[in-house]
Amino acid sequence: MSLLGKFVTLILSLRRLMKDFILRGFNIEITELLRRVFTYKLKYLPLSNIRGEFIELEKYISVLKSLLSKWSTRPLRITSGLRVIDEDLELYNALWALGPRLVPVVESPNSIDVEVSLSELDFYYNVVGSSVRVYSNVVDLVERDIPTPIVKLKYLSDLGVNVWAKLEWYHPFSLSIKDRVAWYMLINAIERGYVKTRKLYEATSTNTGLGLVGLANYYNLKVRVYLPSTVQKCIDYLFTALGAEVVRKDSPITVAMVNSVLVDAARDGAVVLNQFENDLNFIVHLKYTAKEIDYQLRSIGITPKAIIGGLGTSGHTSAVSLYFKNRYSDVKIYGVQPAVGSTIPGIRRIETGMKWIRHVELDEVVDVKLEDAFNTVVEVARSDGLLIGLSGGAVLYALRKLAENNVIRGNVVAIIPDHGTKYIEILESLVTKLCPEKPILE
Ligand code: PLP
Repeated sequence: MSLLGKFVTLILSLRRLMKDFILRGFNIEITELLRRVFTYKLKYLPLSNIRGEFIELEKYISVLKSLLSKWSTRPLRITSGLRVIDEDLELYNALWALGPRLVPVVESPNSIDVEVSLSELDFYYNVVGSSVRVYSNVVDLVERDIPTPIVKLKYLSDLGVNVWAKLEWYHPFSLSIKDRVAWYMLINAIERGYVKTRKLYEATSTNTGLGLVGLANYYNLKVRVYLPSTVQKCIDYLFTALGAEVVRKDSPITVAMVNSVLVDAARDGAVVLNQFENDLNFIVHLKYTAKEIDYQLRSIGITPKAIIGGLGTSGHTSAVSLYFKNRYSDVKIYGVQPAVGSTIPGIRRIETGMKWIRHVELDEVVDVKLEDAFNTVVEVARSDGLLIGLSGGAVLYALRKLAENNVIRGNVVAIIPDHGTKYIEILESLVTKLCPEKPILE
């Protein structure tokens, strides 16, 4: 390093240390201060430049929570070859799951007692998106055509609620929130060398399958989707048009059904990305969906009082809960499931088995019947003009119930997973039954 470089590094270290020194109430002894100036070579590197093993979410979830609640990190300890040392793997994985652009690093095996704010690490860089929206390929499109829009609805304003609806049908393949999951599971599997055969098998209630098939076609991979009995017949045509093989199962999605897919895949040498167990399903919503909501609302000066989402695999609502419950102390998080005896596409009851929900806190889980979800779809369509999907209808119906019971007021985020046009077959019977009157202009 040149003399000038050394001088600049020294000044920067001194600045950081003085800040630390002041924040900690002049508690650091002067010898300790000098030791830091001369022994630390704190650097900021792109997280993508640092290598390390990926470990199970369960092993580092407490580190994740603490990063979010402190909103700062200590430096990662790395070797001269830019590999994280074993003792810091949990911190490395937690930082990777949150995705700041930069991380503070030191080339030292000794722990260093310095905290750097996540705000100094270009934390939101991955959710800022592109203003011109021109992409070099479809993978780039899924990754960078974000954040998905958030729009304030007229719906529920009569009850004093500002519903900020996050419209997740703004994704290219499945027109749903599940493109995020399909994309993240697939690109990471490819990057980590897990896709050794060209065949992918996946159990899906439609949307993850559509996301996966779209991307798989781009990568020249073949997909077989296993659809549960609850999925509309017309969905087969979408998959067939896209060139995927469809296997119909005679049950709803259950643990047993997913296990039977694993057995088929092992027999046929196919890869199962397995959205039900794959932690990337949770991480993509932490790193993108939740971070986007935070970034978007901060940009208009709002901290939400509550966030509500549906429960299928539990990926998005669990990740949003972990992010917001730790980052902000008083945000309520609500989950939505179908009432006993109701089938609502995309969401399931908790007792059918969900991986991530047990790691996070939900203030309440609201049961919704299919008819109430549908009536809400119609109400929202007639108040705001948006024809949302049925799980979105369930989310907004649950929100109305909470507002009517005076549980929520003010700024609330509702995650709307997809659009109503995909549910033509279900809408046909519900419209016939529940909307007998045909609107006529006088
Ligand atoms: N709504 C729709 C339409 C879905 O397709 C899904 C998941 O497939 C969900 C809600 C639930 O999302 P998650 O799997 O993140 O719990």
